[in-house]
Amino acid sequence: MQHRVVVIGAGFAGLQTVLGLKGSGCQITLIDQRNHHLFQPLLYQVATTLLATSDIAWPIRALLRDRKDVTTLLGTVEDVDRTTREVVLRSGERVGFDTLVIATGARHAYFGKDAWEPDAPGLKTLEDATTIRRRMLLAFERAELTENEAERQALLTFAVIGAGPTGVEMVGIIAELAHRILPREFRRMDTRKARILLVEAGPRILPAFSEDLSQYAAKALGRDGVEVMTGHPVTDCSGDGITVNGQFIPAQTTIWAAGVQASRAKDWLGAEADRAGRVMVAPDLTVPDDPAIFVLGDTAHVVSDGKPVPGVAPAAKQQGSYTAQVILARLTGKPAPAPFQYRHMGNLATIGRNSAVIEYGRFKMRGWLAWWVWGIAHIYFLIGARSRIFVALSWLWVFLSGQNSARLITQKETLKEP
Ligand SMILES: Cc1cc2nc3c(=O)[nH]c(=O)nc-3n(C[C@H](O)[C@H](O)[C@H](O)COP(=O)(O)OP(=O)(O)OC[C@H]3O[C@@H](n4cnc5c(N)ncnc54)[C@H](O)[C@@H]3O)c2cc1C
Repeated sequence: MQHRVVVIGAGFAGLQTVLGLKGSGCQITLIDQRNHHLFQPLLYQVATTLLATSDIAWPIRALLRDRKDVTTLLGTVEDVDRTTREVVLRSGERVGFDTLVIATGARHAYFGKDAWEPDAPGLKTLEDATTIRRRMLLAFERAELTENEAERQALLTFAVIGAGPTGVEMVGIIAELAHRILPREFRRMDTRKARILLVEAGPRILPAFSEDLSQYAAKALGRDGVEVMTGHPVTDCSGDGITVNGQFIPAQTTIWAAGVQASRAKDWLGAEADRAGRVMVAPDLTVPDDPAIFVLGDTAHVVSDGKPVPGVAPAAKQQGSYTAQVILARLTGKPAPAPFQYRHMGNLATIGRNSAVIEYGRFKMRGWLAWWVWGIAHIYFLIGARSRIFVALSWLWVFLSGQNSARLITQKETLKEP
């Protein structure tokens, strides 16, 4: 009988595992709750109207159409039955496994304030990105309609909570939109009066970067008209605004870019987890008491060189490749590979449309040249020639014309519906 490998999650880690098992002779089942693989690092560009959804997501079936050894299932996993060696789907189906790979990623965490989510959506899925885009564009439209100045200012206030790379990238493009692109299109108000706030509880923005690059980014954002507020957590959040440092700020659009929580894999396995819910795995990425179950990517707490591996795309991909190697070694009776070792690929973040900061060990870069390096790196990591060409063309168009083209308001509001 063929060895059955079930992979849950077709994100960076799960997909890379499947790619690494090519030619293994295993019977592979890849289960995901969505029908597409998503390039999350560019989600903010969908949310801020630079790219269309199909530029950064690809149907999983199409990606694996030539892999006869892989069956793709669209389904949400609800549990893992370790006794019967089966994965349990919400639909009631069960899928048996000999080896299980769990790579179900993470969601945003509201630090116990889950009630804030409808008013301050986070950015993790295409739906999140189009919801944020819709709210932002509608806020400008409503601001054009109203004659009440206070209401207009609240509509033109955009608050982003959390100043990691995603928060910084979001405010940079929102500022660009409000201050440079939209003013020519609105008649009854000046979109340059928009207030764009970046609120961070910690002492500085981009905490993973060194202090000088963090300061550079804060200054660059300030020049672009972003108000950077550090050192104060948001203490309340509603559809009408946020409270920071005891002060209520009316804001009709709030975006959450602070904190993540791993998927529920720890509950399915009854496994030990860290504070972010990530399963504590052994050095070969397996669950300590079950060598046939691997947990990878944002769902796993992995230690390499004595430090926890960060929740970033290269780490997830490296773990996927490594897991495939371990499975192949077991099937062919070869010695097990050495423990997983993470290779850091550097920290990157864009600031607005044509500036970025990059840090790789002692190497640092900033400004427009860094933006080009960032752009080339992201184009390189996109899947498929079509996406690379489309994204490169979209950026070129925005760069030359000063127009963000993905600005259609289409879907209904979903988050606030019961
Ligand atoms: C907005 C944003 C910006 C980012 N920017 C960067 C960046 O610039 N650079 C960088 O390196 N990293 C970045 N990251 C982090 C990076 O995207 C993650 O570290 C990476 O996606 C983790 O890969 P993964 O395979 O563990 O999980 P994911 O890529 O999240 O994949 C998880 C998959 O599991 C599926 N799934 C989840 N639960 C279930 C279930 N119950 N049943 C079935 N399927 C399920 C999901 O649908 C998804 O397809 C960013 C993340 C976000 C959200």
